[in-house]
Amino acid sequence: MYLCMDIGSAGHYKSNAQRVRFLSESWADSNVHCPGCGGELKKYANNTPVADFCCSICSEDFELKSTSGKIDKTIPDGAYGSMIERLSSQSNPNLLLLQYDAENWSVKNLSAIPKYYFTPDIIQKRPPLSATARRAGWVGCNILVGKIPIAGKIKIVSNRIIEPTEKVLTAWKKTSFLKEVKSSVAKGWILQTMQCIDHIGKREFELNDIYQFENSLRAIYPKNNHIKEKLRQQLQFLRNQGYLRFIGRGVYELP
Ligand SMILES: [Zn+2]
Repeated sequence: MYLCMDIGSAGHYKSNAQRVRFLSESWADSNVHCPGCGGELKKYANNTPVADFCCSICSEDFELKSTSGKIDKTIPDGAYGSMIERLSSQSNPNLLLLQYDAENWSVKNLSAIPKYYFTPDIIQKRPPLSATARRAGWVGCNILVGKIPIAGKIKIVSNRIIEPTEKVLTAWKKTSFLKEVKSSVAKGWILQTMQCIDHIGKREFELNDIYQFENSLRAIYPKNNHIKEKLRQQLQFLRNQGYLRFIGRGVYELP
């Protein structure tokens, strides 16, 4: 994998947005493999509404979003309505999130976010465009990347360092159990618990560390009177999926 985009090939693009799209897609086409299986990514024809790439082996779809700005909290995306609709359909693609250096057209960061991390909770509705705008009344959305657990942002390039393929594939498989969780409420609880564990920020933690989030979770689930019980249930689930290890006396460990 090379981190430099082939700027020489984009001379005919006048609009910067078009140039970014062309360069980042061409770069991904020749440098990125499917983070789920290591297969080759094939580019769809331009303006295909489904996605930008498809894996030639596992047939997973990928959408590529590129920016020179920050990618840690919020990423602007398209129309809110179609995004919400897409989340509930089979055709929702996985996301490749690319951050490039606009000074020299090189890739700084690239992460893959599996599609099963996309829940309505992380899609934020933007205010409608003003009456004077060209697309007056249009409602866009933001992807709240900051609300996705760390395990859902699989690093392929991290601060210009290319992660080994094996590491990427292992990270992808680690939480692929989420794919089987069909209920959005059940998935919401699991993702919230994973985020609590991220916030604790320790490899080994106690039940009491998790209970610290009881009040903030109550704000999200005001009708639930059994937050601690729910949290224990999620920890049990995550342990059964190999995401956590239980080492006794209310102590858990991330493998
Ligand atoms: Zn694949």
